[in-house]
Amino acid sequence: MTPTGRIHSVESFGTVDGPGIRFVTFLQGCPMRCLFCHNPDTWNPAAPVRYEMTPQELLSETLRYRSFIRKGGVTLTGGEPLLQAAFAREYFRLCKEAGLHTALDTSGAVFTEEALGVLDFTDLVLLDVKTADDAFHKSYTGMERKNNRLFLDHLQSVGKPVWIRHVLVPGLTDIPERLEGLAGYLSGYSCIERVEILPYHTMGVYKYAELGLRYPLEGIGPESALKAEEVREAFRKRLGVEVV
Ligand code: SF4
Repeated sequence: MTPTGRIHSVESFGTVDGPGIRFVTFLQGCPMRCLFCHNPDTWNPAAPVRYEMTPQELLSETLRYRSFIRKGGVTLTGGEPLLQAAFAREYFRLCKEAGLHTALDTSGAVFTEEALGVLDFTDLVLLDVKTADDAFHKSYTGMERKNNRLFLDHLQSVGKPVWIRHVLVPGLTDIPERLEGLAGYLSGYSCIERVEILPYHTMGVYKYAELGLRYPLEGIGPESALKAEEVREAFRKRLGVEVV
């Protein structure tokens, strides 16, 4: 049976989720509860969505933008796209048939055979590493760190190119011991081509109010651009890969 995707939203000219201009699809549902999340409206897998589409239907929509994304590609993100692994795999399979570059933006929280099957048709993984601090991970994201580690280990073992994404939150993940721990951890993986250091922002706060949820990082302001640049420079020196 053809899997139907539950799609929160799409962005036809994405420029921040992988190389070049991309057709970005946000899938509904996420098992994590990161304190800094600016998309809490993607959490509930059963929430009403804008689109329900088959992979073929999403491909047809994608191909309307073919001339723009020719040198970029497509990205699946969320929420957590691997909660809808069968749909994601088939969409990427069709995209590869159509000659498009595929990027999967994931938290690595879903470590199942079905989820790993999506990698068969994935050119690049954008892997969020929230923190390398095991003890802190659960309270920070709502989940243990284990699957995220296993996911990166798997990517390393199959030689899949990876871009790491890490959000810097003032007082939580921008403190020296956690940054040191993260850099040390990442230095063990040759599959990592690039690291993105993303300063925390508060643009999603209004969504919590709309959903009737308490904002967990109340009182913490945005990360400074200067701090983010300092961290990027330190990671560049330490890891020897592109850091942006
Ligand atoms: S994994 Fe992403 S979508 Fe899910 S809670 Fe964390 S930041 Fe939000």
